[in-house]
Amino acid sequence: MTSLDPRAPLVLDTRELGRRPGSQREVSLTVPAPKDLGIDVLGVAEGSPVELDLRLEAVMEGVLVTGTVSADLDGECARCLEPLHEQIVGDIQELYVYDEHQTPHDEDDEVSRLEGDLIDLEPQLRDAVVLELPFQPMCRPDCPGLCPECGARLAEDPDHAHDEPIDPRWAGLADLNEQLGQELDQHPEHKHD
Ligand SMILES: [Zn+2]
Ligand SMILES: [Zn+2]
Repeated sequence: MTSLDPRAPLVLDTRELGRRPGSQREVSLTVPAPKDLGIDVLGVAEGSPVELDLRLEAVMEGVLVTGTVSADLDGECARCLEPLHEQIVGDIQELYVYDEHQTPHDEDDEVSRLEGDLIDLEPQLRDAVVLELPFQPMCRPDCPGLCPECGARLAEDPDHAHDEPIDPRWAGLADLNEQLGQELDQHPEHKHD
């Protein structure tokens, strides 16, 4: 039945806690981040330290785990693509139900369970981290982003401007405009009926 590896960094053994309701234990641990923690462009680098500060409490139907997860996030600014590093702190609150409290009815529920005395923290760690990911990561709240014409970083060059359109197709159009302007100057009375 048991598929959890008791030596895996994110597997907790609750034997010391016991099963008497009200029994509590504080657990602090630092584990290497599992693979793919986060999303493609933004996440916690595999193997980087993740700190868990947890309180385990035995209740009637299982073990209640509450606490925080902190980790360093790597990604890039959504506007200027600068690399980003920030710390996130997420919350964990999960009831792990004892084996013997499971009924066939529970089977397809999204219930976390103990396997014997073991708890798997990984799904909750993932949820906690994903919930903390910023929707649009930015290097600073007012990042001006990139110049739409040449891709220069506007934060480094705020007065950056282009006098002439760079695209040669527009250069032709500019000449034409100028000619039309001159013609109109020469015929100020010009009208359409
Ligand atoms: Zn930026
Ligand atoms: Zn530019």
